[in-house]
Amino acid sequence: MAIKCFLCDNDKFASLNNSLNLKKCLFCGLVINSLRPDLESLEEYYSNPHYYDYWSDNISDKKIEKLKKTTYGYYLFKIKQYLTKGKFLDIGCGLGYALETASKLGWQSYGLEVSSKIAKITQKKFGKKIFVGLLEKSKIPHSFFNLISLFDVIEHFNNPLKCLTLINNLLVKDGFLMIVTPDIYSLTAKLFMTYWPHFLPEHLTYFSYSTLKKTLEKSGFETVYYEPAKKYQNFDYIVHRLSIYPKPILTRIAKFADHLIPEGLNQKMFPLKTGEMFILARKKKNISFCK
Ligand SMILES: [Zn+2]
Repeated sequence: MAIKCFLCDNDKFASLNNSLNLKKCLFCGLVINSLRPDLESLEEYYSNPHYYDYWSDNISDKKIEKLKKTTYGYYLFKIKQYLTKGKFLDIGCGLGYALETASKLGWQSYGLEVSSKIAKITQKKFGKKIFVGLLEKSKIPHSFFNLISLFDVIEHFNNPLKCLTLINNLLVKDGFLMIVTPDIYSLTAKLFMTYWPHFLPEHLTYFSYSTLKKTLEKSGFETVYYEPAKKYQNFDYIVHRLSIYPKPILTRIAKFADHLIPEGLNQKMFPLKTGEMFILARKKKNISFCK
């Protein structure tokens, strides 16, 4: 079946990478994985407890928790000049690290998590403030949140335009949306090409700043801030990620270097630009999805 670009409706694509099923829209430049699973397949995939096994193994790993919370703290610091308090929803909240960070800063934190296994753990801390399921099927109150975040989530949606429209409806007037997602035009994407660590089978859309800005405009948002995203990392964590998602050359280099770096330095935290972008957008108007 012919596929259409959800952003510009064009059906002419160039093949970017056959083994990854990547196609680039010839009109707007959006890059998509042409195998677009339906909602039921996605629900089944992310509800499978094995998808989260690597998290479960590390639930007690305070080191990863500290890295993630430092990163979320940095993102929440960026919103401070626009908003300082209110109701915050983290979509794809996982174990609730962003929610805990936001709560400490005075936000009322809510989360949405597709995996019921993970949601059960997070509900122990946040109770009914954790919604379970896919965004497209969830019963989250409309016109309720002041701030919503999509940290490493938008690239997993099968229809990002529809999902952003749903998110628009959840926000109050002038509410804000924070997005972190891989940038297909980033320096690391150009350097690593096929070996780019963000090329994963579950990533269905690869945005550039320009295509994300256009998608946001179509779903009733205006982009107010952009920067290449930073994530706090340490060498231990980089090796851990590359062993979960092996990359032919990178994994070998990282494992080799891991033996050479002294134990103390392995754990040292530093901000790293990972080839992703951080975007803040403001809800400009109410919009409804009509497709
Ligand atoms: Zn297009």
